[in-house]
Parts: sequence; C-alpha cells; structure tokens
Amino acid sequence: MQNIIDRFISYVTVDTESDPNSNTCPSTEKQWNLANQLVEELKQIGLDDVTIDENAYIMATLPSNVKHDVPTIGFIAHFDTSPDFSGANVKPQIVKNYDGGDIILNQEQNIVLSPSYFKDLLQYKGQTLITTDGTTLLGADDKAGITEIVSAMEYLIQHPEIKHGTIKIGFTPDEEIGRGAHLFDVEKFGADWAYTMDGSQIGELEYENFNAGYAKLTFSGKSVHPGYAKGKMINSILLANKFLSKLPKDEVPQKTTGYEGFFHVHHITGSIEESVVELIIRDHSMKKYLQRKKLIEKIAKKINKKYSKKFGGDILKYEIGNQYFNMREKIEPVMHIVDIAEQAMKDLGIKPLIKAIRGGTDGSQLSYKGLPCPNIFAGGHNFHGKYEYVPVESMQKATEVIVKIAELTATRYE
Ligand SMILES: [Zn+2]
Repeated sequence: MQNIIDRFISYVTVDTESDPNSNTCPSTEKQWNLANQLVEELKQIGLDDVTIDENAYIMATLPSNVKHDVPTIGFIAHFDTSPDFSGANVKPQIVKNYDGGDIILNQEQNIVLSPSYFKDLLQYKGQTLITTDGTTLLGADDKAGITEIVSAMEYLIQHPEIKHGTIKIGFTPDEEIGRGAHLFDVEKFGADWAYTMDGSQIGELEYENFNAGYAKLTFSGKSVHPGYAKGKMINSILLANKFLSKLPKDEVPQKTTGYEGFFHVHHITGSIEESVVELIIRDHSMKKYLQRKKLIEKIAKKINKKYSKKFGGDILKYEIGNQYFNMREKIEPVMHIVDIAEQAMKDLGIKPLIKAIRGGTDGSQLSYKGLPCPNIFAGGHNFHGKYEYVPVESMQKATEVIVKIAELTATRYE
C-alpha cells in the first residue's frame, strides 16, 4: 500500500491542469513535466517499447509470457487535471484509519469534508483516505488510474508466474477538455480492446454513455423605439423565449436520471436585434436522440415559417451537430470484454456497479475509432474540486482488477 501512496503522491504533486482555450496539444506545457516523468518510470519498471509522441501521448508494452495466442488488451488513463479547479501546489493529506467523522481539510479557511454531506465517505470507515488541503483539487481523476496501471504492470513484471498475453498501456493528455482521444493513435496502440481506468467509486464498470449533440440558435429581431413600435418591432429575446417554451419542460438535467435524456440550455445572450441560445442534447437511445434533434428542427422551422413574411427571410438560423455517441453499440458485439472485467471484480470480492454514464468518456470516442473501450473505476470521489478524495484501498483493488483481467484473458484463450 505504501508503494501506491508514494507513487500517487509523486503524480498529484505535479501540476498538469489542461486549458480549453489553448489550441496546442498538450494544451499546457506543464503536462510535459509529468509525461516525461512517467516515461522514465515506465522504462525503469521494465516495460518495452516505451514511446512518447510529439503530442505527449505515451504508450508502452508488456510482452506476453504465454505460448498460446491471446488477444492484446490495453489499459488507458489521462494525466491532465480539470481546469474547473486549481491543480497547482497540491498538498495531499493522508487520513489513516478513517473514523467516519468530519475531516478538516483546512483549519484556517474552515473547509471540512463531512460525511453528513458526502455520505459516500462512510463506506470507507477504517480505510486510508487521501484528501486535499482544501485549496486545490486532488487529481485522483485520473492520476489514480495512472497509479493503478503502473502498479499493476510492475506487479506483473515482478510476478512472472501470473500468465498474461501482450498488454498495452496508454496515457493521454487533455482528456478533461474533451480531447484525450482526438490524437490517440489506435493503430499504433495495436490492442484488440482496452479499458479506461477513469471511473469513480470502487466497483464501477461502464459501457454505455450518452449520445450527445448541441444546437446553436441565433434569433434575429428588429429594434424600433418602444413608443413607436406597434406592428414594427420584433424582439428576438421574446422569440428565444417562445422557442424554449416549446421544449418539454421536464426533460432537463435537474429532473432526469438513469436512462432519461434531456435538453439542456446552458447559455443565452440577447438584445432586441439578436439573441443566441446554446443548448446540448443528450440521450442513451439513438432513436430518441435523433427525435430530439428533429424536434429542435421542427420548432425552428415553425418559427421561421411564421415570421418569414414579416421579417423577410429566416428569422432563426440554427446549427445542430453531434458531439459523441453511445459506445454501447460498439461494445455489444464484443460483450465478453465487459464480462471479463465483471468476472475479475467478482473474483476479487468487489461488487460490480454497472450503470450507464450520464456523460461521455474517452472510451466512447476510442470505441468509435475502432478500439472498444469500457470504463473501470479508479476509486476517487468528488472529482474536479477541493472535496476530491480517494481511498488507498480502492486504488489497491483497481490495481488487482487490472492484474486479474490480464490473467483471465490469458486463461480464456488457452
Ligand atoms: Zn477523468
């Protein structure tokens, strides 16, 4: 366990915050610091073909130690942290034998991690937790994943009696800004399938996510002095409001859960002359997702039809696009890759928590690039903020899950 703690701390104390406003890859220079450190470490523990490309994507190989043919499997994690909260000067605190009470993160600023608010804490009574000092995020998302993959590879190298096929590992920059899979060279990686170690609590196993799209609506108007506006003014703000009132009012993030999809209006700017509404569309079902996109188009067309004469053309210009798709479609034909992960957890006494992600993962993009890629827990909680924490025991278990998956895959193809 100490090994895992030391390794994790050596990663989270390096600032790797990514930046959505940058066009380079990696989006921030500082991500190279940890990337280069990881390359050295992977070589040092004895992995083969350790490479880092010009965009800081790291790959390495653990060669097979069996004679029979085994599919090549991969494990993937990201080393950047979320721009939502500072990742500079992370000072991890270690809480041994957690007693189930409040954890004071920062005495001076009175920042407390309390189980009365974060009830998940209670399931880790007696365990060792790593928390922040209340001024930064922790970066367990996803440095816990990296810790687990490196530790599992080291373990397999030190225990050649455990049989496994060829294993590939991949570490990416910029996942938090949605670009982790963009420049991932699936062909070079050369795995038949892979797992991202990027989920939250122990047991999580995910192979379904949203189909995701967006719409940008630009309403035009006609500004006239309000005192003389009768029959002349067109107020684009009211048009935008009219549009939004036509959307199903209960299909919003705050009123949906599980497999229920939604429309989410997240940005509006407006004046009489022009109002812009941005929204996102989410649904696990492709059929319903397409229906949602159609509905937006239908309302838009209706408004255009109504105002075309008065305005002299389309009063509403709209753009509707796709962002990512549900990986389920790509995983279902190779369902054994989920079964192996589930079996690995059961063999280790971990209760698998299989649920549909209400969001996306790098794995969904990778799955559509030809690398089927379910997501497995990395162990952390409360990502992207100062209350982030990770139980060391969960990182230990995730490490064991990786080892077990390697072993089960080798025996399955004997
Ligand atoms: Zn992550």
